Amino acid sequence: MDDLATRLAAVDARIADAARASGRDPGEITRIVVTKFHPASLVADLYRLGVRDVGENRQQELTAKTEELAGLADLRWHFIGQAQTKKARAIRAAASLVHSVDRPRLADALDRVGEDGDVLEVLLQVNLTDDPGRGGVEPAELEALAEHVAAGCPTLRVRGVMAVAPLDAPAAPAFARLAECSRRLRSVVPDAEWISAGMTADFPEAIAAGATHLRIGSAITGERPLHI
Ligand SMILES: *Cc1c(COP(=O)(O)O)cnc(C)c1O
Repeated sequence: MDDLATRLAAVDARIADAARASGRDPGEITRIVVTKFHPASLVADLYRLGVRDVGENRQQELTAKTEELAGLADLRWHFIGQAQTKKARAIRAAASLVHSVDRPRLADALDRVGEDGDVLEVLLQVNLTDDPGRGGVEPAELEALAEHVAAGCPTLRVRGVMAVAPLDAPAAPAFARLAECSRRLRSVVPDAEWISAGMTADFPEAIAAGATHLRIGSAITGERPLHI
């Protein structure tokens, strides 16, 4: 718990430094702690340290942890992983927010399981790599996906873009492309201003490129166990 508190404080200090270096207000940046593969007890420890935003990338793990920690009512669960359409109902039931909407069929599946009047905030994930097998919509198709969701999915609200930087290339140019995607998205959905980018290895670069939501795992949680 002490180590966790120390790592959390160190990351928050680095976030504040990177924000100030870019002339940004650290208060406008949401730090999401990615807790995948770690037990629910770690999420409870983070909660005691004041963390209210956590990220999970697998539906079954998300569902199990949200059930176990249902008492922590103001904890926000961000779903950040690849989503299968058949898991849409379970994801929607457990997640406060979904960062990884990357195709019309997934948007439709998430929309269909929504109740009338219930709105799920989503980000559109963009693929910044040359590998079409990675998650995310091709940048050239972002506007079409945004139009599809805005016009056809009344229970979803598009808040912005999300991406993972390519592993084998510098992060800064990739995040600059993401910022351009964000501008193009806002030509379709003017208030979709969020940019979810930046992980342990590259969050300072993401902040410099305008990220509003950081998804930071191992720098805070320590090494991920292989199994939970
Ligand atoms: C695991 C994961 C992260 C966090 O990765 P770290 O390198 O541990 O900070 C961020 N985003 C996504 C989509 C992830 O799957």
